[in-house]
Amino acid sequence: MIRYDLVCDREHHFEGWFRDSAAFEAQCAAGQLSCPECASTAVRKSLMAPSIGGGPKAEARRAAAMRAKIEAMRTHVEENFDYVGEDFTDEARKIHAGGSDERGIYGEASAREVKGLLDDGIPVMPLPGRRKSDA
Ligand SMILES: [Zn+2]
Repeated sequence: MIRYDLVCDREHHFEGWFRDSAAFEAQCAAGQLSCPECASTAVRKSLMAPSIGGGPKAEARRAAAMRAKIEAMRTHVEENFDYVGEDFTDEARKIHAGGSDERGIYGEASAREVKGLLDDGIPVMPLPGRRKSDA
């Protein structure tokens, strides 16, 4: 496995693990890579290495803190938001249009559906950690 630092066309930096460089090229060419922040599939390898100071131990601490943060966010969402499953995209649009109760929801959506919502000005956020697929 190799790690690449990736960046989308909106300059969000993230990382991806690949079996080898050919696997990365194939997934990238097929549009299977998407930015976790904005769901853009215009993803390329970052030429600029992220500035990380403090050595591997500090990096591991940061990674652990990040995982804890994500886990806390997920727990908060699961306890306070309505799970709407596959209806997520429809329900988000209904709430946005005022046709459904204003509330926090979460559910399943593809990267393309998320991008469509964002394009229409509907605030959504990918919930990392338990995605059904990376499509
Ligand atoms: Zn992005």
